[in-house]
Amino acid sequence: MELKKKINVIKQSAGVKKEEQRFKTNEFKAYAIRPTFESVRIACFYLLIGVIWMCYPNYLINKLTHNNANFYMIDITKGLAFVVFTSIVIFILISKRLHLYKYAALKSELSYMREKEQEVRLHHMAYVDSLTGLPNRMAFEERLYELMEEQKEKSHAILFIDIDNFKNINDSRGHIAGDCFLQHIAKVFKSNLDKEDFVARLGGDEFAIIFSDIGDRTEIAEKMILLFGKVKQPWVYEKQEFYESMSVGISIYPEDGDTITLLLRNADVAMYCSKEHSKDCFTFYDNKLQEEKTEKVTMINELHHALENDEFELYYQPVLNLKTSEIIGVEALIRWNHPKKGMVSPGEFIPVAEEAGMINKIGDWVLETAFAQKAAWEKEGYTNLGVSVNVSGYSLTQSGFVERVKALIAKYNICCENIILEITETAVIRELNVSLQVLKQLRRLNVRIALDDFGTGYSSFNYLKNLPIDIVKLDRSFVKEIANNCNDSAIVQSVIQMTHLLNKQILAEGIESNEQLSMLCKNQCNYGQGFLFSKPLPENEFSMLLEEKCAV
Ligand code: C2E
Ligand code: MG
Ligand code: MG
Repeated sequence: MELKKKINVIKQSAGVKKEEQRFKTNEFKAYAIRPTFESVRIACFYLLIGVIWMCYPNYLINKLTHNNANFYMIDITKGLAFVVFTSIVIFILISKRLHLYKYAALKSELSYMREKEQEVRLHHMAYVDSLTGLPNRMAFEERLYELMEEQKEKSHAILFIDIDNFKNINDSRGHIAGDCFLQHIAKVFKSNLDKEDFVARLGGDEFAIIFSDIGDRTEIAEKMILLFGKVKQPWVYEKQEFYESMSVGISIYPEDGDTITLLLRNADVAMYCSKEHSKDCFTFYDNKLQEEKTEKVTMINELHHALENDEFELYYQPVLNLKTSEIIGVEALIRWNHPKKGMVSPGEFIPVAEEAGMINKIGDWVLETAFAQKAAWEKEGYTNLGVSVNVSGYSLTQSGFVERVKALIAKYNICCENIILEITETAVIRELNVSLQVLKQLRRLNVRIALDDFGTGYSSFNYLKNLPIDIVKLDRSFVKEIANNCNDSAIVQSVIQMTHLLNKQILAEGIESNEQLSMLCKNQCNYGQGFLFSKPLPENEFSMLLEEKCAV
């Protein structure tokens, strides 16, 4: 701004606006002037006029008068006229040339100012985030570099911040609302940080802060608690209140790294840890976090090859009717036969596959393999054997899921009533409306739905009442203590009763002892599954068990 003002002042004082027009015609002339040559030209001109003036007028005066007094007067007047004439000529010559020099000087000053202004503008564009007015990533990195150079011996904290559920504002109220929120957050940061703290927007909903020359972790934690409080205050947009929070990862120079890349990467790793835990919290970087992350990345890469290399396998665990002790069904459980690690449990790799967006492919393989197996058993005469398949919430809501199930049922020509799709409460709630629609469509195909792991999530009777489900699978955490803990036994009793009242059937998972079995039988639990009957078995072993226990 100051630069602009300065330029305007120069423009006004020199009448530059008018003269600018003249620049176009005069500037080349000005640059064409050669000072020595010009000086010699003026001197020669003066010499020439002087010589002519001296010689010719004296000759003329002599012709006009022979009176000495007159001659003397005319000579003085001639001398004066010479001085005046040459002064005028020299004035014109010098003034013309000086004007040209002035144009050239002003022109170069103006272009210097413009260059400066352009420089400031470019610097602004390069270092300032246009939406929030905060320094951007480049400015952040430069500041960090400066600190690491100039205050090497001191500790600095690098905070990587990501706004939790920012997508919700963008999705529900549009991008303009999202932009307003980011501006609001930038203001919150700016007004609640100390002068020496440095805050920048790295991009999207990611911000970064440097606490320079920090004491210990308690000092950082105290500052963070204050900042969390401010961020959590409701933000009002078009009369609607939004309650937002942030996830923060903190790395400390020099102990967590001595390069910008390392410090930012480690703060990012710690931030993801905050996200994975509960969000709305901060995590200090720890070497273990990096190891976990590296392991996860390796697992994602390996999962990509697992399907191609045929490393997955389905194991089958029998489901029994607790009244008759008959095997009435089977739950298909995936196993990953890892070339180096051996059998990897689904509890380890399914969440990673979900996060990496690979669960749909794996889910499709499970469905196809389980349905093909069901068709094979049906051919062997086990037509009524129910086959349960676990379905991830991500697969359930992917487009075309119902059509895929329908196509597979048609392909293998299997009995729909004996297909049970298991979903968890948390998976359904993730996208409740879409899940509800999909579950209704699946039921229209006559496929049965089981609510898996009941008791570990929200355990809401409301969902139990409203979700289109046929079977409730009571989680093994309740079954485990049923014989020893009267609270667990009371809960199990009420869940069984409630499920029956809602006209649904109940299956107890993880039955390991006869005490547990008898308690469940006493409370009229319909079905059961657990190591007491059988562990999940590979297909050939399960087929042998079927032959042994079930007459076709
Ligand atoms: P889930 O669906 O609740 O499966 C039951 C889990 O309990 C299985 O673990 C099973 O081996 C284990 N289990 C059964 N009876 C007992 C028992 O008496 N004691 C003990 N301690 N455990 C018992 P698994 O096979 O490790 O599977 C873990 C979870 O992984 C499953 O829980 C399910 O949520 C998920 N999962 C397994 N296969 C698939 C799949 O094909 N697709 C998806 N999306 N998830 C799967
Ligand atoms: Mg299950
Ligand atoms: Mg379960």
